[in-house]
Amino acid sequence: MKFGTKALHAGIEPDPTTGAVMTPIYQTSTFVQEYPGKHKGYAYARGKNPTRTQLENNLAALENGNHAICFSSGMGAIDAVIKLLKPGDEVITGDDIYGGSYRMFSKIYEPFGIKFHYINLYDASNIEKYINSNTKLIWAETPTNPTLKIVDIEAVSAIAKANHITLAIDNTFASPYLQNPLDLGADIVMHSATKYLGGHSDVVMGALVVNDDELYQRLHFILNSCGANPGPMDSFLVLRGIKTLHLRMKAHCENGEKVAHFLKNHPKIGHVYWPGFEDANGHQIAKKQMRGFGGMVSFTLKGDDFDAAMRFACNVKVFTLAESLGGVESLVNHPASMTHASIPKAEKDKAGVVDGLLRLSVGVEDIEDLILDIDQALDLV
Ligand SMILES: *Cc1c(COP(=O)(O)O)cnc(C)c1O
Repeated sequence: MKFGTKALHAGIEPDPTTGAVMTPIYQTSTFVQEYPGKHKGYAYARGKNPTRTQLENNLAALENGNHAICFSSGMGAIDAVIKLLKPGDEVITGDDIYGGSYRMFSKIYEPFGIKFHYINLYDASNIEKYINSNTKLIWAETPTNPTLKIVDIEAVSAIAKANHITLAIDNTFASPYLQNPLDLGADIVMHSATKYLGGHSDVVMGALVVNDDELYQRLHFILNSCGANPGPMDSFLVLRGIKTLHLRMKAHCENGEKVAHFLKNHPKIGHVYWPGFEDANGHQIAKKQMRGFGGMVSFTLKGDDFDAAMRFACNVKVFTLAESLGGVESLVNHPASMTHASIPKAEKDKAGVVDGLLRLSVGVEDIEDLILDIDQALDLV
């Protein structure tokens, strides 16, 4: 089955009791038992809920995996992966990961005795010197947020496998439409379903997809024990969002490309980050492991001026100034003061999150209106 057909149908069965074609919202916390311990696979909705099950089956199919588990947020999903570890374990991760991931790793889990190395993962040969017998996990994001760097998943996977280290990829920016990390050797794929999967900025949810049965059992045990489960209404919303994932992603990619080229040719722009440019860092790897370059475009204003960035962010009219990404509507974000505010200034500068940097989540509006909007906002800078 091809991707669009899978998005609509894979893992989804009409409701067995009523024939409802759309998966019902099973708004129930508990399920009747015939006698103690005998039920239809559902006992208590923290562990499993039928609406969630259909979404998980669908997501597993989209990532070419055997199992998916949904969580109440992307952070809930990441949290479950870190709970596979114990004090003394070490993690190798990127130096410009999602701000919330950095905050969880550094503020919550470092005090619990887990050590994180925030390194340049874009050159896979850089990784080996950080590996020792305590290294248990490599946590990578690609493309990264906000400077859209590319990690070579196959190359990192080879290193992880050789050293018996679990490799997890945050695939939020690419979505399964553009990239399938399990096919490239990753052990765990993570999504903030809040973004492209949901696609309509109306739900917060996370997901993990894996192939290994035992890893799935351990992660599901963590979900059921710790309780970061999503509700049935949210599961329904993401299921509905995914039905148009392929249509939306195609439009995001087309609009993203046009916005990137427009910015590149504009005299007030310093640098444009978009992995589709021939001269972009990691462009060859992106071409190899992705089926398109996505709808995220970041850029700096000449002179890296904070006030200029503020003026742009406050004067766009079609774009909305807001955190998050991946919805149908276009958003602009000032990473240094919004999504990445919790990262120390020195770390931010190292990762290119400078005062003049803006990140666009290019939506699916008509491209002429998006370009006109950017153009008029740049005139006011
Ligand atoms: C949003 C995001 C997360 C966190 O997901 P939530 O659903 O907001 O908890 C993690 N990684 C990336 C790349 C994200 O964009």
